[in-house]
Amino acid sequence: MAATVMELYGSKVFNEHEMRERLPSSTYKSLKATIEKGQPLELDMANVVASVMKRWAIEQGATHYTHWFQPLTGITSEKHDGFVSPQPDGTAIMEFSGKELIKGEPDASSFPSGGLRATAEARGYTAWDPTSYAFIKDDVLCIPTAFCSYTGEALDKKTPLLRSMQAISDQACKVLKLFGKDVERVSTTVGPEQEYFLIRKEDYDKRLDLVLTGRTLFGCMPTKGQELEEHYFGTIRPCVSAFMKELDEELWKLGVPAKTKHNEVAPAQHELAPIYDTTNVAIDHNLLTMEMMKKIAPKYGLVCLQHEKPFDGVNGSGKHNNWSIGTKNENLLDPGDTPMENLQFLVFLAAVVKAVDEYADLLRTAVATPGNDHRLGANEAPPAIISIFVGEELEAVIDALCTDSPYAGPVKMKMDLGVDVLPTFSKDTTDRNRTSPFAFTGNKFEFRAPGSAENLSDVNTILNTAVAKALKDFVEAASGDGDFECVAAAWVKKTLNDHRRVIFNGDGYDPAWEVEAERRGLPNRKCTPDAMIALTEDKNIALMEEFGVLTRTEMLSRYEVEMEHYSKIINIEARTMQRIASKQLLPAVTSYMGEVAGAAAAKQAVVEGISTKAEQKVLVALSGYADEMSDATDALNAITDAASAMKDEAEKAHAYHDNVLPAMARLRAAADAAEQLVDEEYWPLPCYSRMLFYTE
Ligand code: ADP
Ligand code: MG
Repeated sequence: MAATVMELYGSKVFNEHEMRERLPSSTYKSLKATIEKGQPLELDMANVVASVMKRWAIEQGATHYTHWFQPLTGITSEKHDGFVSPQPDGTAIMEFSGKELIKGEPDASSFPSGGLRATAEARGYTAWDPTSYAFIKDDVLCIPTAFCSYTGEALDKKTPLLRSMQAISDQACKVLKLFGKDVERVSTTVGPEQEYFLIRKEDYDKRLDLVLTGRTLFGCMPTKGQELEEHYFGTIRPCVSAFMKELDEELWKLGVPAKTKHNEVAPAQHELAPIYDTTNVAIDHNLLTMEMMKKIAPKYGLVCLQHEKPFDGVNGSGKHNNWSIGTKNENLLDPGDTPMENLQFLVFLAAVVKAVDEYADLLRTAVATPGNDHRLGANEAPPAIISIFVGEELEAVIDALCTDSPYAGPVKMKMDLGVDVLPTFSKDTTDRNRTSPFAFTGNKFEFRAPGSAENLSDVNTILNTAVAKALKDFVEAASGDGDFECVAAAWVKKTLNDHRRVIFNGDGYDPAWEVEAERRGLPNRKCTPDAMIALTEDKNIALMEEFGVLTRTEMLSRYEVEMEHYSKIINIEARTMQRIASKQLLPAVTSYMGEVAGAAAAKQAVVEGISTKAEQKVLVALSGYADEMSDATDALNAITDAASAMKDEAEKAHAYHDNVLPAMARLRAAADAAEQLVDEEYWPLPCYSRMLFYTE
């Protein structure tokens, strides 16, 4: 088996190994320089790479190529072009030029751009991201790319991400220089843990709500939930196990280092975690993982749900963003075991604390989606308040630093820092708190607020840029005169003191935390329309402009896109509910009432004076629910029409949140009550119990 995995791994990827084997050595060196230092690739070099890449791809059976990119919808996009080029003599050759490799021009006028690119205007172009390997999927050579308009605005999620990686690398290199280390590039790394549900395709197909919106808009609670906690790490169902096996193999072929898989807390919920990678590669891989999950599930009679909250009352799905920063040889969030390493660690730690505190509102925007609104703050995911968990050991260190008091650590210090040599933080002592949105886990931070459907680009763009800013602040403070160690230690102390309010080791689910957070002045923006406003605030725009990550225009356009997206999603959900209620649920209730009434009448026709109490109770209750469903449907119609007629995108999004969501909840409550009384044979939607507790 081991040999097979080794053979499979990366077999569909034009990776370092293929490049070294196949490219002329001068081209290989030049491409390596591009990859490692971000130097531009000359066209004649690109021509050589393209021709070699084409030959490799054709050997693998590829007939087409595509520039694979991430528009603002977050989902990847691709348009396939054939290599085939017909010749005058009636034959054909396979062509792929350097120009086609490094630049593409998709007709992408219908991707959202928030008004950045008038449809009539010049089209955007895609540019190869040579730091992410090309790969083959469905006989198509996929070239990971960034997508910009001709005037240079980012039209995608990858362009700002790459810019933010450069920004944090530049600043971190300067910090390391102050510590006497010459480093050319510092990378941020991400390990995304992906949660998802698998349900039977036959159930899925019967639910228009799942098909159209990815979540159930109706459905009463199952009589058994996750209270027995038997599913977590439990035995994996055979069909799920077969699915996971094929998924692993397909991902390995694509060079995605899928590592662990297990059942999650909720019934029918699972998780896949890869080994971490450089941020942009990790995100490309995560998007591929999500795509393969969806594609492979139906082969096993399953459907993969990646919505953040497919089932009301059952845990939703998240995507933990494990994040660190490092050089080739050193994880900069590892405390190390000498005082100087400790000081360097404390500088990076303090920078992260400062970044998260100053830009918590901006970070919150990156995890705000209509789907994730159901999770954050719902006692299954961290609250909408962004705080940092550091664990007891580190908290004690920070305490000692901030108050100038001695720290009773295990080893005596050799340096006048006010602290002993820091312990190496074991995962065990730092990973216990599951309620914190941003937790230090030994040598990395785990951002737990992102939802399962999220493209992690925004999260990391903001995180990288905010940390770059804090590191820049350190460089400025420590570049002047004075003893470096003293100045650095003083900066750490001041920074931690200034931003201690964001550190919280307690229970994030406790309602008292909301009160306490408010007292500390931490933002608590509970829904997407409230959260997104941070994209328009001067402080946040200034951050993005300072590091050339996003311009004011790009930020404002993203705000428009997000608000519009929010309204569109809720609109689809509301319309789908109306349709299901009118065409499926009310007719079901009516037919069943007919059946019950008929049965009661038939009983009385046979036995005079026989009791029809049970039938009457059901009829009275159902008739009441049916009336309420009908009224609630009318109300939802009117309220949705009013919201959708609004012109201002911000007002509209708020109307969907404030008015449409409660109207949806009213309709659902009546329908869910009816579901509990109607014969299962009559109810057109598969119930929660059957969807979640399937066997085989
Ligand atoms: P747990 O499952 O308890 O959250 P793991 O040790 O399995 O913790 O790690 C979760 C994820 O964190 C994995 O994807 C792992 O590769 C990733 N990870 C580990 N170290 C780093 C790092 N330095 N940078 C980014 N991600 C990391
Ligand atoms: Mg984790």
